[in-house]
Amino acid sequence: MHDSSHHSVDPVLAVLRQYFGFEAFRGFQREVIDHLLAGQDAIALMPTGAGKSLCYQIPALLLPGMVVVISPLIALMQDQVAALWQNGIRAAFLNSTQSSQESAKVMQLARQGAIDLLYLAPERLLMEHSLTFLSQIPIVLFAIDEAHCVSQWGHDFRPEYLGLSVLSERFPTVPRLAVTATATALTRDDIIKYLKLQQAKLFIASFDRPNIHYTVVAKNDPKQQLKRFLDAEHLHDAGIVYCLSRKRVEEIAEWLVQNGRRALPYHAGLDKETRQRNQSQFLQEEGVIIVATIAFGMGIDKPDVRFVAHLDLPKSLEGYCQEIGRAGRDGLPANAFLTYGYEDVIKLRRLLINSQLTENLARSARQQLDTMLAYCETTNCRRQMLLRHFNEAYSHACGNCDNCRAPVSTWDGSIAAQKALSCVYRTGQRFGVEHLIDVLLGKKTERIIALEHMQLSTFGIGSDLDARQWRSVFRQLIAADLLVIEPVYGGLRLTERCRPVLRGEQAIRFRQDAKAPIAVKKDVQAKRGTLSVHHHSKELWQTLKKLRQDIARQQGVPAYCIFHDATLQELIDKRPITEQDLSKIYGIGSRKLKEYGADLLRIMKQFAPDGIDV
Ligand code: ADP
Ligand code: ZN
Repeated sequence: MHDSSHHSVDPVLAVLRQYFGFEAFRGFQREVIDHLLAGQDAIALMPTGAGKSLCYQIPALLLPGMVVVISPLIALMQDQVAALWQNGIRAAFLNSTQSSQESAKVMQLARQGAIDLLYLAPERLLMEHSLTFLSQIPIVLFAIDEAHCVSQWGHDFRPEYLGLSVLSERFPTVPRLAVTATATALTRDDIIKYLKLQQAKLFIASFDRPNIHYTVVAKNDPKQQLKRFLDAEHLHDAGIVYCLSRKRVEEIAEWLVQNGRRALPYHAGLDKETRQRNQSQFLQEEGVIIVATIAFGMGIDKPDVRFVAHLDLPKSLEGYCQEIGRAGRDGLPANAFLTYGYEDVIKLRRLLINSQLTENLARSARQQLDTMLAYCETTNCRRQMLLRHFNEAYSHACGNCDNCRAPVSTWDGSIAAQKALSCVYRTGQRFGVEHLIDVLLGKKTERIIALEHMQLSTFGIGSDLDARQWRSVFRQLIAADLLVIEPVYGGLRLTERCRPVLRGEQAIRFRQDAKAPIAVKKDVQAKRGTLSVHHHSKELWQTLKKLRQDIARQQGVPAYCIFHDATLQELIDKRPITEQDLSKIYGIGSRKLKEYGADLLRIMKQFAPDGIDV
């Protein structure tokens, strides 16, 4: 609790409470901070939302000097700094968006010791005049954010990061911290090697995100599936929809707008201003959906992203985890929703075959895609599979993924597999899925007539299943590597693995795809996606949100810099009516109490239940 004895006993905890309004440290935060305070180097691998930034922000408030944060995310620095000022922390940034007067001012303040945290882009840091400037200031820590950018194995490689090894030469006595949410061994080894962090202590947190609910559905009509998902669970929420191509991003964004949602596109083909504008609307306003390619998202620390939906299959489980990790950073329930069909597999495998990758990289990419497919097709707990992939033991079923919620049934598909495979064989191993299905169903399409495919022994032998079920069969045969695609025209061919299946020596079980893409039961709805605001609290919720929006507008900062949803939720749950109670609410530190306490108490008193003496 908030007794004053704590403050004298434990200065680190006191700073957490005073500046951030949080009650306790989470996970490894405290260990990392203590290690840095002792002057040692550290590498912290923590999932998105785990609270990496506190690991370097707290030392900035305790040590006599400045912490330099190196981040590639120039576009986000302004918001990050604004959020820190809201907590009464003296932060600033230096980057190419500033005028020279502005940066001169920041440097002057830094020299006067009036800045605790300075954000810098790596290319800026590496300039000789920046290094000289930094050498004139007492620096107590270098924090390298998004440290995985140093690795060419990942998806965010930034060559400038390789230059950061200069820190160990120019500032040998200043401790360094590298943080990232990418946990693969390859990336980690690169971080150690290229950032010269051989002496650093490694802190690896659990990568579980218990508040994220995972769902994968077979792709039938992705737009309608997305709409049903949004209507059922996220009528007013902010979220991200990922698509594979720019064209599709535009199309889906437009379609969502036609359906009454506020949706904005984001991809590398848009000009810089449009991208910047769309990103800041997503960050600043409430309930905006951003439709994007993977170009969007690194460093997005909007806490109240309630869902991340993928309409196309991601290329790897690592990428997928990064993307869905952007949901629910505030710890409140959030959804990861993915639609996936055989077309995705064909498209991605084709891209791989046609790519100019070296043999090693191509093999690695191929394996990553296969792991992604295995995740989609699994009938077991998805969380278990994700965590095991990152070498984390997780032995029970999570209870918060689609497979746990509604166990998947499987069916004996040995005969169906034989029919499908022999249809591929009889038609000459050069046709795509839709034609093969027409043959199996005995349709007399123009193409079938022209090719005389009615003569084949497999013509019409598949009428026991419908087209949707056959698509599911082909998808699973492709995912299981019984069929491969021919690179140029996308026709399917058999692989060696087919033999035992065709000979009847190997039984095959298929997962039964859900008939209705998602059926959300009302009773679990609140727990899954949306905040559990009771009806009689709705008005209070709206009033608090309006206050937050008004303050944010006045100051020109994103609403979440003022209060997180989690703070509003706690206000509703706990109904504080004294300043003392208010100070215990999540996220209300001393500065926010001073600035906004009176407004909050006025509203809380107005909504106090009858009978409470105010
Ligand atoms: P990361 O950079 O690891 O993705 P952040 O540093 O942005 O995560 O933190 C995620 C969220 O969790 C933020 O809203 C932050 O304020 C909150 N948070 C971090 N540490 C704590 C803590 N010890 N107690 C409560 N909330 C925390
Ligand atoms: Zn599960």
